[in-house]
Amino acid sequence: MSHRDQVIFDLIEKERQRQLHGVELIASENFVSEEVMKAMGSVLTNKYAEGLPGKRYYGGCEIVDQVEQLAIDRLKELFGATWANVQPHSGAQANSAVMLACLQPGDKILGFDLSHGGHLTHGSPVNFSGKLYRPYFYGVNKETGLVDYDQMEETARKEKPKMIICGASAYSRDWDYVRIRKVADEIGALVLADISHPAGLIATKLLNDPLEHCHIVTSTTHKTLRGPRGGIIMMRHNFENPFGLKWNNGNLKSMGALLDAAVFPGTQGGPLEHVIAAKAVAFGEALTENYAAYMKQVQRNAAVMADEFVKKGYKIISDGTDNHSMLIDLRSKGVTGKDAENRLVLADITVNKNMVPFDTESPFVTSGIRVGTPAITTRGVQENEIPVIVEFMDKVITNINDDSVLTSVKADVNALMGERPLFQF
Ligand code: PLP
Repeated sequence: MSHRDQVIFDLIEKERQRQLHGVELIASENFVSEEVMKAMGSVLTNKYAEGLPGKRYYGGCEIVDQVEQLAIDRLKELFGATWANVQPHSGAQANSAVMLACLQPGDKILGFDLSHGGHLTHGSPVNFSGKLYRPYFYGVNKETGLVDYDQMEETARKEKPKMIICGASAYSRDWDYVRIRKVADEIGALVLADISHPAGLIATKLLNDPLEHCHIVTSTTHKTLRGPRGGIIMMRHNFENPFGLKWNNGNLKSMGALLDAAVFPGTQGGPLEHVIAAKAVAFGEALTENYAAYMKQVQRNAAVMADEFVKKGYKIISDGTDNHSMLIDLRSKGVTGKDAENRLVLADITVNKNMVPFDTESPFVTSGIRVGTPAITTRGVQENEIPVIVEFMDKVITNINDDSVLTSVKADVNALMGERPLFQF
């Protein structure tokens, strides 16, 4: 098919071919269904709809109101939430809205250290969260690789942050939300759980439930949740507005109303109703038995992958995984994260280099890679094929400068993946 803008459509096709022929192991990526994609590429992109369903600042919103309400209702059902906002354009936007609603500039926050697996928006000095607020961090125990809750509690008691943030971009274990809430109650802090990575495993009850214990929960929608790129905010239990929070001069009636205002007009303009429609489709899919089976397979594939790496002498941070991902320390193989990423990409295996806790390399080099199984599982990879993929990776990593090994692994990768549709499971 020819297009007026052939240049861009040729590039899109090239990217589709790249996705089709490779092994996609970036833990934060996935492949969406045709229906999610169709909703995103729909006429809803033409519509302005500032406000919320039934309370808009533009005419002609009767239909997008129904779309957005369905997205909200399905999301609430999926996580057992009583309040939800589906408008954040991204995970970072969701976190910025929550902090804008709950904190004043200069307030203390306590988050998971970026270099131990946390996210930029949890207080990094290069992010709004570290610039507007005063960040403190907890990390993992050097020996076990597990979140050091003793250190979290100690810092919480000493600094008395207004908000404790849990959740991560590169942490393969489940979280003890009960313990975090306990210390937060002791010091009068709010708990924000950012479940961007494991959201799908939480929705299908394969991991602990943060909504029961954390005041506010944010997530992206495009990782394990397998929806369009975007963000969400949720709450289950009513809680008292702890610091007499206000929006401008007025007291909003509830935390939900305060958070809604922090999304729009606080941090965003018009919502992306085409993306919200795609979120609704993805939430509908996530409510099915098929998605629950998919999530189980994602978790099984990750567990088998961690075992296979360990068998080949790799160090997995925390020695295993409870979720969809793992962080591999490559120092035992004498290879940096940067070199591993670059060479694996040339063999059509996509991973990202990642700092490991207490890393001695810079963030541009790193000693590790992060891998995850959501995307390959969507393409139908089952646990019997995981050893084959780990073998491919091991060949490239242990022959890091050998072009002939790389060429032969690439051919094997293309043969394994090339015939499968992007969305199969
Ligand atoms: N929070 C966590 C824990 C993440 O891992 C990410 C993305 O990687 C984000 C927030 C930000 O999401 P986005 O890239 O949609 O802004």
